[in-house]
Amino acid sequence: MSASASASSHVTSNGTATSSHHDGVRLPGAQEPYYLPTSNEREVFAACHARGLPVMLKGPTGCGKTRFVEHMAWRLQRPLVTVACHDDLSASDLTGRYLIRGGETAWMDGPLTVAARLGAICYLDEVVEARQDTTVVLHPLTDDRRFLPIEKTGELLEAAPGFQLVVSYNPGYQHALKDLKPSTRQRFVALQFDHPTAAREAEIVAHESGVKAATAAALVELARRVRRLRDQGLGEGPGTRLVVATARLIAAGIPAADACRSALASPLTDDPDLLAAIGDLVDATL
Ligand code: ADP
Repeated sequence: MSASASASSHVTSNGTATSSHHDGVRLPGAQEPYYLPTSNEREVFAACHARGLPVMLKGPTGCGKTRFVEHMAWRLQRPLVTVACHDDLSASDLTGRYLIRGGETAWMDGPLTVAARLGAICYLDEVVEARQDTTVVLHPLTDDRRFLPIEKTGELLEAAPGFQLVVSYNPGYQHALKDLKPSTRQRFVALQFDHPTAAREAEIVAHESGVKAATAAALVELARRVRRLRDQGLGEGPGTRLVVATARLIAAGIPAADACRSALASPLTDDPDLLAAIGDLVDATL
């Protein structure tokens, strides 16, 4: 079976995914994913999308990169394909492979190929985790003529209009052995993400959890103090994700101190001194 014939049996002409293999494709839903912008990142992203430029989202974990992509896919009304990168991820995991089914060999598109055929936004989360020989398959898709050579089938797939490559990258926990090569990173327009201002973060936390504004503000103040424990050896401070999780526990009726211990402190560190320091901050802030 040829690659294109196989693909057309999985994707209908209107671009709707039909095969279970395409479960990773998310079509824009009825509701806009909530995203509170910090600057003009939506305009820059939309301009990149219109011009077929790939985008790199840089920033600490839990600061809204994934939500931003979901929001932009919705605004641009494009399907979204997300791939969580890891060090076992091979080029075939992205492009596709032959599978044996009922004695027959059938080609199965990988998520990157699916996205290129559909004209979807393809989001590679934590791209630096992937091996360098894997990231190399992305290069032709970042060229002016955006194509994806599928070595195993010999197909040279031109990305459909609307296709956009987006990668996320956390410079905080990279080390020398694991960094993006300049030849890879210089292919992307980079958008810098960071922890939002206190007022914005409190707005996000209240929206995402349903806690009162005063509780959200207190949790954000706590998170900001915990982030300052960097000087005492805390690696990466709590992202908004942890603050939202804490607030959700509180909204569910868990006492604030317990919620902070379970959702804010414990996920951050195992170090008894740091845990004690965070405990003190909880007592002082809430
Ligand atoms: P990242 O991809 O950077 O690790 P996420 O996008 O998953 O982080 O963000 C974690 C959570 O924090 C989201 O699910 C959302 O609840 C909240 N969040 C963070 N920043 C924003 C924002 N700017 N607007 C809306 N929600 C946000």
